[in-house]
Amino acid sequence: MSYKSVLIIGAGLAGIHAAKKLAELGINYQIIEKGKKVGGRMATVSSSQGVADYGAQFFTARSEKMKKLVKQWVREEKARSWTRGFHQRNHAGEITLVRDGYPRFVASNGMYALTKWLSVDLNISTGQEVTSARYENGFWFVEILNKETSERMFVKADGLITTVPIPQAIAFIKNEQLESDVYFELQQLKYEPCLAVTITLNRSSKIPKKGGIQSEGDIAFIADNKQKGISKKPMVTIHASGSWSEEHIHKCNEWIVEELVQQVKPLLGNIAIIDAKVKKWKYAKPITLHPDRILATLQPAPIVFAGDCFKEGKVEGAILSGLEAGEWMGERIRKQG
Ligand SMILES: Cc1cc2nc3c(=O)[nH]c(=O)nc-3n(C[C@H](O)[C@H](O)[C@H](O)COP(=O)(O)OP(=O)(O)OC[C@H]3O[C@@H](n4cnc5c(N)ncnc54)[C@H](O)[C@@H]3O)c2cc1C
Repeated sequence: MSYKSVLIIGAGLAGIHAAKKLAELGINYQIIEKGKKVGGRMATVSSSQGVADYGAQFFTARSEKMKKLVKQWVREEKARSWTRGFHQRNHAGEITLVRDGYPRFVASNGMYALTKWLSVDLNISTGQEVTSARYENGFWFVEILNKETSERMFVKADGLITTVPIPQAIAFIKNEQLESDVYFELQQLKYEPCLAVTITLNRSSKIPKKGGIQSEGDIAFIADNKQKGISKKPMVTIHASGSWSEEHIHKCNEWIVEELVQQVKPLLGNIAIIDAKVKKWKYAKPITLHPDRILATLQPAPIVFAGDCFKEGKVEGAILSGLEAGEWMGERIRKQG
């Protein structure tokens, strides 16, 4: 059994930023990530046929902390401003450009590339799934499943930061270990799914300039990854709305592609689809946001719940929540030591 001061569960933006903060404070930590790669919902498909973001499409920088981070990313050419307002499509299919003047940023080479760059030098084990976390004699004992070998191991830690969607976290931390009011608060945090389709086209789409449309109805967002500047070849991402996704999440991929493509046909023009991929995000976006940046408790031992269902939500909220989680835990561990 290995030992770490702090174990972070999940290598999405919240986990990555919690780790950065702990590293800055000189605290020994390890991130455990169940996926083969880092990034979580900052996901990009990349092949000879093109590049497309199929999770988060853009991010904002409203807070001073985020503005500072994004400024650095832009300087390093890892991110850039995409647009200052999207086209809006109403129920009747009419499209208008709404410029609110607020910058939306994209990762220069796709969202995954940004998270990969951000996580260089961090201690991350990928392909490892946390299956249970229990408290005993002053420590957290975390059971981890190696997804490739199916071997199980335990890590002992003083503190735990979990950044996975809350329903997944309360599945591996048993309720009797948490104070009842903490458990109650966690149970209120619900998410909606999103069915995401990425299609490779034989020629450019007819999506208006800048390439992003927020939509009413069954579709939530449509992005032209070529216009976004991340793909040399025409690739379009279609995100279904939460309610449509909920209703159709169990349908087969072929049906989902056909239905969603049909709904955006006028925006694609006279094209042929070379390839189509479907991602079913079960926990895509929080429906309810917790009012604080993190939910932290010392009972039974230091544990922080962080991620995008806290305060601002989305990419910016996940980063701010992760930083605060690292700071809170860092202080407690230093006091203990
Ligand atoms: C389709 C879609 C579109 C979106 N569009 C936007 C957008 O345009 N703008 C915006 O700001 N936000 C958008 N978002 C939201 C944004 O992607 C998230 O808010 C943000 O990426 C969340 O980061 P996180 O670190 O909190 O969680 P995640 O990125 O989900 O990271 C959690 C990590 O935990 C891992 N994990 C889960 N369970 C375990 C376990 N048991 N053991 C180990 N690891 C585990 C997961 O694999 C994952 O890597 C979108 C999300 C989706 C799905």
